[in-house]
Amino acid sequence: MPRHVLAYVLIVDILAAGATGAMVPVLPVTRADGMAALILGICAIAHIELSRGIERARKLTSGAGPFVDSLTLWDFAAILVLPPAAASGLIVFTHAVAWLRVWRGRRALYRWVFSDATVLLATQAAALVLLAGPGPHPGVPAGPGGLAVVLAAAVLRWFVNYALVVGAILISSPGVRAGQVIGEFGEQIIEAGALGLGLGAAGLVAYNPWLLAGVVVGLLALHRGVLLAQFRASSRTDEKTGLHSADWWHQIAERALERARIGESALAVLMIDLDLFKNINDTHGHPAGDQVLRAVAQAIAAEVRHDDATGRWGGEEFVVLLPSVDERELAAIAERIRRRVHVLVVPIVTDEGPKTVTDLTVSIGGALWPSPGLTTIDDLVLAADSNLYTAKGAGRDRVRLPGDLPSPRTDGLPEQKPRQPDQT
Ligand code: GH3
Ligand code: MG
Ligand code: MG
Repeated sequence: MPRHVLAYVLIVDILAAGATGAMVPVLPVTRADGMAALILGICAIAHIELSRGIERARKLTSGAGPFVDSLTLWDFAAILVLPPAAASGLIVFTHAVAWLRVWRGRRALYRWVFSDATVLLATQAAALVLLAGPGPHPGVPAGPGGLAVVLAAAVLRWFVNYALVVGAILISSPGVRAGQVIGEFGEQIIEAGALGLGLGAAGLVAYNPWLLAGVVVGLLALHRGVLLAQFRASSRTDEKTGLHSADWWHQIAERALERARIGESALAVLMIDLDLFKNINDTHGHPAGDQVLRAVAQAIAAEVRHDDATGRWGGEEFVVLLPSVDERELAAIAERIRRRVHVLVVPIVTDEGPKTVTDLTVSIGGALWPSPGLTTIDDLVLAADSNLYTAKGAGRDRVRLPGDLPSPRTDGLPEQKPRQPDQT
C-alpha cells in the first residue's frame, strides 16, 4: 500500500478506536439495554444469515463507488435505543459475524476493519447529536423536534461514513475519477432506506420486538429487488470494456431504427475488428490482451458522438450505431477511428513488467440505412460485417463502406444470417 494510503487508513482506524473508547463512559449500560442489544443482535444475525448469497452477488455487480452495507439498519437502530457503549459493542459484534460468515476470504481484512472504523466514527458522531438533542437518550425521541434530531443524526451517520470511504477510494485508486465514485450516488438510496427502516426497528424494540420479524422479511425482499436492478444494469454493460453489451446495443439500435423510419433520417452501423489480435494474446498474454481491448474500446468511443451507441459485439469486435450521418460523414468517422487506433499507445502489465503495445490496427466495415434490401438492424449488421470481411481480405487496416468497390467475395455461399456475438 502506498504510504499516504496507509497513513489515511491508520489514522481513521485510530480515530475510530479513540472516539469509541471516549464515548464508552458517557452513559451506563443497564439490564434493559442488554435485552434490547440482544434483540437487535438476533435480528442482525438472522438478516446476515438469510442474505449471505444476496450480499455477495450484490458486491460482485457493484461498481467503483462505496458499497452500501444493509447492516446499517441494525447499526442505526442500535444508535437510537442503546447507550453509545452498547451500540458500539453490538456494531463490532455484528460486523465481525458478517465478516466471518460472508466476507472472509473474499475481502481483505484490513479493508473490512477500515470500513467498520468509518461506521464506528459515524456512530459516535450520531450519538453526540442524539445526546445534545432535547429528547431522552437512549430511546426514540418523540414529536417533530425529536424527529428532527433523529434526522440530523441519520444524515451525519451517513455523511461521515460516506465521505471517509469515498476519500479512501479516491486516494487509493488514482485511476478512478471522482465522478465515477460519486456518480453512483443512486446506490445511496439503499442507505437512506436502511436508515429509515432502522428508525422503525428502533421503535419496535421497545414496543413489540416480535414485529421485528416483519422488518427482517421486508429488508430481504427489498434487497432482492435492488439486486435485480443491479443485474439489469450490468447486463447492459460489457464488463471488460465498459461499452454496451451486444444485447443492449441491439435493443438501442432497434429503437433508433424505428425513430429513423418515423423521422425519415439516416442511420449507419460500423463493425470494427482488431487485426491479428491473437498475436497480442500470444505475445503478451490474455490479461494484456484485455487491457488492449479496453484501450481500443475507449479510443472508439472517444471518436464518436456521445449519443452514438458503441457496443462490444463479442471477442475483439466492436459495433457503433450512428444516427443521422450521410455517406461522407460515415467515411470520415470510420477513417478517424482507424487512425486513432493506429497511433494508440497502450500501457500493459506483463509477467516481465510494464510494457507498451503500439501499431495496433483495425479493419472496419460500414452499412447505411436507408439502402435497398436493408430493412432491419440485423440486415445492417450483416452488411457492415460483410464489408468488414472485405476489408480484411483486402489486407486489413482499412475501411470498407457501401459505396466502395464491389465486394470481391466470390464464395457463392447462400444468404447468411448475421453472426451472433461471441460468448465471452
Ligand atoms: P483477424 O485480423 O483476422 O481478425 O485476426 P485475429 O487474430 O484478430 O482474429 P481471430 O478471430 O482469429 O482471433 C481473435 C482473437 O481474439 C482470438 C481470441 O483469443 C481473442 N479474444 C477474443 N475475446 C477476447 C478477450 O475478451 N480477451 C482477450 N485477451 N482476447 C480475446
Ligand atoms: Mg480480429
Ligand atoms: Mg474477430
